[in-house]
Amino acid sequence: MGLTPLDVVKLLPRTNCGECGEVSCLAFAVAVLSGKRSPRDCPYLDPTLLAIPGEKTPDSELEQTRRILREIRQEVAGLDFSRLAPALGIEERGGRLYLPYLDGTVELTPEDARRLDGQELDPRDKILLYNYVRFQGKAPLSGTFVGLEAFPHSVSKVATLRRYAEEKMARALEQDESGLRRALSVFRVKELPGEADLAFEVWVLPRVPLRIYYWRGSPEEGLSPQVKVLYDLRATEYLDLESLVFCAERFTERWIEVGECSSG
Ligand code: SF4
Repeated sequence: MGLTPLDVVKLLPRTNCGECGEVSCLAFAVAVLSGKRSPRDCPYLDPTLLAIPGEKTPDSELEQTRRILREIRQEVAGLDFSRLAPALGIEERGGRLYLPYLDGTVELTPEDARRLDGQELDPRDKILLYNYVRFQGKAPLSGTFVGLEAFPHSVSKVATLRRYAEEKMARALEQDESGLRRALSVFRVKELPGEADLAFEVWVLPRVPLRIYYWRGSPEEGLSPQVKVLYDLRATEYLDLESLVFCAERFTERWIEVGECSSG
């Protein structure tokens, strides 16, 4: 017999917090079993605890990533690179695009994408980069920054951003703020002095700036360290919400990695 919603509910914290976008944990359990939601949409659930028929195993997840990459590459192959490059803030030379990405530059063709410094690109990075090209930058950035919660249908993404970027950065900064400050020099960053204990704007891609604010917290007052990530109000003209969250996740991972190297 397969899983019932009650089996799934037993694995959830049953707080009905709504961060997954459903009104209750039970509604979420029903949505997961009917395939409308992924277990990953609840930030408090360990997806490996669930063996849902049809749910992705790590292998099929990799296969799915490859399939998405193939499809998105095919879509991008039909685009006129020289026409779309200016709107995306990137350079086109001889049918190849050159995209500043995190702390490197990527050469992208309809066949593949690679970092010019030889460092490996994860297939998820490639999907993000082809997606950026596919969006073709529909409108200029606004220069006004808002939290992810300001975008429609962002509830579950806000929870993912908090878990995989904001909380992770706050923990890392608490442990080694000076190392991470030094590591910022390899990214495309503008500091925003005086706006928090540490505040800066970082360009993950030429039209995807993130504003990152860090407050140290105060153990005497029971305040833990906090990080808040803001996006340009028109960020969704350049990427979908999931990709925008992924930009913050990847910046977090890379920043911590570079920080560890510079401290070690
Ligand atoms: S996010 Fe998780 S804990 Fe919160 S309501 Fe959804 S299922 Fe329940």
